[in-house]
Amino acid sequence: MNMVKNSLTNVELTIVFRALKFSAYKHRKQRRKGSAGIPYINHPIEVTSMIIELLENPKYDLLAAALLHDTIEDTNTSAEEIEHAFGNRIMRLVMEVTDDKRISRVKRKQLQIDKARELTYEAKCIKIADKACNISDILYTRIKWSRQRKINYVKWANEVIGQIRDTNAELVGAFDKEVTKAQELLDFKL
Ligand code: ZN
Repeated sequence: MNMVKNSLTNVELTIVFRALKFSAYKHRKQRRKGSAGIPYINHPIEVTSMIIELLENPKYDLLAAALLHDTIEDTNTSAEEIEHAFGNRIMRLVMEVTDDKRISRVKRKQLQIDKARELTYEAKCIKIADKACNISDILYTRIKWSRQRKINYVKWANEVIGQIRDTNAELVGAFDKEVTKAQELLDFKL
């Protein structure tokens, strides 16, 4: 594990924990798919932990946005609510990694591939950690997906991250490890 070179100030750490509390409350009724009742909040915590462990000096707004990354997409949280509680910058980061659910699933998936390069560095980091954690979950939790659906997810995630492989070598390395494990466990080639 890398040591964080510049630690966060108490004020910054307070904002990160406020984001954790806010996200835990918003996701309180959700469980991770097929994973024996694991609370949904474990997922944003895992994404944020990966960023803390692998980035040299992650800033508090990146960590807060990572904790909040699924609130707008998967709960009744509005962008205004995030902006009010955490400010414009954190709201914009969360919006960058939020899919517009009014668009069809197929089109949303294609948009993630097409738009990945336009994201800010921080949003790219969240996206890579999110996909790595999702692949790990579909491999190691008892998710009720067919083998083919799992393979399709990994192939699609690999295509999205393929657009932004220059973001951060450690994060992309962690993502690649999950893809390699997926290829072994699900027995397929990219
Ligand atoms: Zn997520």
